[in-house]
Amino acid sequence: MHQIHHYLNGSIVQGRSGRFAPVYNPATGEQSAQVDLASADETREAVRVAHDAFAGWSKVTPLKRSRILFKFKALVEAHADELARLIASEHGKVFSDAKGEVTRGLEVVEFACGIPHLQKGEHSMNVGTGVDSYSMMQPLGVCAGISPFNFPAMVPMWMFPIALACGNTFVMKPSEKDPSTSNRLAELLQEAGLPDGVFNVVNGDKESVDVLLTDERVQAVSFVGSTPIAEYIYATASAHGKRVQALGGAKNHMVIMPDADLDQAVGALMGAAYGSAGERCMAISVAVPVGEETASRLREKLVAELGKLRVGPGLVDGPDNDMGPLITREHLEKVKGYIQAGADEGAELVVDGRDASIEGDGFFLGGSLFDHVTPGMRIHREEIFGPVLAIARAASFDDAVKMINDHEFGNGTAIFTRDGDAARQYCEQIQVGMVGVNVPIPVPMAFHSFGGWKRSLFGPLHMHGPDGVRFNTRMKTITQRWPSGIREETNHFTMPTH
Ligand code: NAD
Repeated sequence: MHQIHHYLNGSIVQGRSGRFAPVYNPATGEQSAQVDLASADETREAVRVAHDAFAGWSKVTPLKRSRILFKFKALVEAHADELARLIASEHGKVFSDAKGEVTRGLEVVEFACGIPHLQKGEHSMNVGTGVDSYSMMQPLGVCAGISPFNFPAMVPMWMFPIALACGNTFVMKPSEKDPSTSNRLAELLQEAGLPDGVFNVVNGDKESVDVLLTDERVQAVSFVGSTPIAEYIYATASAHGKRVQALGGAKNHMVIMPDADLDQAVGALMGAAYGSAGERCMAISVAVPVGEETASRLREKLVAELGKLRVGPGLVDGPDNDMGPLITREHLEKVKGYIQAGADEGAELVVDGRDASIEGDGFFLGGSLFDHVTPGMRIHREEIFGPVLAIARAASFDDAVKMINDHEFGNGTAIFTRDGDAARQYCEQIQVGMVGVNVPIPVPMAFHSFGGWKRSLFGPLHMHGPDGVRFNTRMKTITQRWPSGIREETNHFTMPTH
């Protein structure tokens, strides 16, 4: 059985805890590997290595750090196909989608290459007579990243490139369900010239996460995953004095106005709802057509498109499938349970993905479509994280906005319309962190920041972009005066007002 170990101080290191987790090929249902689960002591060892490396790395000039990231970018590009195959084999998503996530991660590396400019700080001359003031954006120390299964390359790359560029060292704890990509990225960082110990990978579960949340040498924790765990991460790490950004779950709605180009909206909706088998935090899981006529036309077109959905393995010889399997058998059963719950609660199950027959024991499920879903139902309240789209009809624009604003989550949303005024009202009123206008999955580019509102994000700062630089640095402001001919006449006992 293939073994997946940790990556510490520039080498692959075998775990010593005797604890393992299975890694599956979701397309066949077979276990393909087992990954070491670090003990608390092994995790502390990774933190120590990163802590020891900080003194040296933080003194490397921003320009030299940036040059290493430029080399890393070139290496990731050269190995993009290999990384995408690795992702597809452990996660299950189709090859082109896996390659897309590598590209989106690379964009953050490209942004981080600009660190000499991004970390310049601010300067003011003569804030008082003969007095200058400037701010420095200094690195924090050891930063930790804890990532979910659904983007094994992109989400770690939301976190570590900016942290490293800012002069921090890093301990990455990837999802135990598809851990191999992080180790491969660690090898490529080393090949790019990153000094040993600056980037480390600890594979593990709650035992190692708890060390990262509480060890006093860890300064900052970036987390992406489900809301209950995000909340726990935020509460625990904050209570231990760390700065935290913890991104959680989602339930993303797409409003379709009566004037929308319906073919465009349906095309966008199909990819946004069923792409990556719905296992995206920015997936659209609720379509909100405004008005009965819009709803009927939308439903008819969706049913027709669902009939053409190609479900199958992520790695095939010919053209890619549209959608691969789910991550584990357990998750497959959970999503099937939601489909049953929706039907039991009285939603109309228009297309039942459980009917799809795909050969073999892979964790496959066809695309499902519900109509007449209402806010009280579990399939509207909870994140399903599978290929299940709900149509929740709204009588008016205001009803649609209220339905979304009343929801627990506020990660992403979209409106499809030709009416600029409706779009503008929507952008202003909606209580969601990322909004698309005729764009179904409005993931901000690397040079903007990514983050939801409400219970989709805990902590003040979003990920990557300008917030990423703020999160990974600590500002220090210097006010200085040098002896000169200017002499104060008297002592000052009151606040200086210059
Ligand atoms: P998860 O919360 O189960 O796991 C995320 C990470 O937390 C993993 O590394 C896991 O090992 C660790 N973990 C799990 N249980 C833990 C515990 N009790 N204590 C400490 N650590 C624990 O999430 P997942 O199933 O891997 O990923 C899917 C979730 O991630 C979905 O809810 C999805 O919406 C969310 N997600 C959110 C975003 C976003 O940007 N908001 C992006 C991607 C995924």
